[in-house]
Amino acid sequence: LNRRLAEFGTTIFAEMSALALRTGAINLGQGFPDTDGPEEVREAAVRALRDGRGNQYPPGPGIPELRTAITEHQQRFYGLGFDPDTEVLVTAGATEAIAATMLALLEPGDEVIAFEPYYDSYAASIAMAGGKRVPLTLRAPDFRPDLDALRDAVTDRTRLLLLNSPHNPTGMVLTREELTAIAELAVERDLIVVTDEVYEHLVFDGEHIPLISLPGMRERTVSISSAGKTFSFTGWKVGWVTAAAPLLTAVRTAKQFLTYVSAGPFQFAVAEALRLPDDYYSAFRADLGAKRDLLAGGLADAGFEVHRPQGTYFITTDVAALGEKDALAFCRALPERCGVVAVPNSVFYDDPEAGRSQVRFAFCKQESVLREAVTRLGRL
Ligand code: PMP
Ligand code: GLN
Repeated sequence: LNRRLAEFGTTIFAEMSALALRTGAINLGQGFPDTDGPEEVREAAVRALRDGRGNQYPPGPGIPELRTAITEHQQRFYGLGFDPDTEVLVTAGATEAIAATMLALLEPGDEVIAFEPYYDSYAASIAMAGGKRVPLTLRAPDFRPDLDALRDAVTDRTRLLLLNSPHNPTGMVLTREELTAIAELAVERDLIVVTDEVYEHLVFDGEHIPLISLPGMRERTVSISSAGKTFSFTGWKVGWVTAAAPLLTAVRTAKQFLTYVSAGPFQFAVAEALRLPDDYYSAFRADLGAKRDLLAGGLADAGFEVHRPQGTYFITTDVAALGEKDALAFCRALPERCGVVAVPNSVFYDDPEAGRSQVRFAFCKQESVLREAVTRLGRL
């Protein structure tokens, strides 16, 4: 393993899902739903396969039907106009979009500011591109960003801000005021902002505001999202980038040599998914909102300190309230102790103390599964 990747081992998601399989525990670790997305979207994938649409290399930037559906989605939900030919790119999930963006935009030694705890691929993608990550810690209980610290963190070497809202793992959702301050800073210091918006349709308190919609940001924002979370098909790995043509072209150049294209038939199905009526999106959010309340209540009853999320399908807790000090050790022992798997947030921080006793639970599971998990955790 080269020096750039030396610090990265097996991802925590793989470790904890393997532990769940081995022990038969309820998996509230890795964020994937235990119920697949809409039947008609699955049927659309089957139809595409059967009719021979997308079984051979689809166009590099993504099939035109999907790129158009992405622009319609951006218009419908945010009033944003994009050109499907020059401002939209289909990727192999948001993960590839993040990696391609880093590889396309960073020079060796460029600094990337990201809030920690961060989704684990950020650090690795920055490292693979030869960049330097500059973490800014979000602190419990509410995980609001410290905007003065952000301003101070910008140096002459800062190339990118990498934002994620709604934020995994904390559930924090950036407000219009915070986004406005970030946009002003980006314009002032001539920064590009990469926004990971994969949980855009999972905001329970407040609203999702794409940073690219704010003044001065249209030309300097790379927006990333994915079908995995919104439509409950995390295994399909269909994601996308929307950005002004010069930025999009750069990301597309890198993407060409990572995967060239992502799986064809799923692209046809996701194009249909994006066109689902508003009812789909609101029912999805309402369902997960109720599950947030169920799990948050259950965890609090079981003695966890609960940091109630405003968005995403994760709840961050603190197990210090249970007399536990170390989240990783706690999570490794949890299946044996009570038959539940969770993820330690501590691995998403560079500052080892900041998230030492934080543990994340996913609630994208059937209600009965969540109830059983809560019962088991109550026995701790
Ligand atoms: N960003 C965040 C914040 C995530 O939680 C995830 C996990 N779904 C991803 C990106 C990766 O998404 P995908 O599965 O589409 O690659
Ligand atoms: N995004 C999901 C999570 O945070 C899992 C992604 C992965 O397994 N890489 O749990």
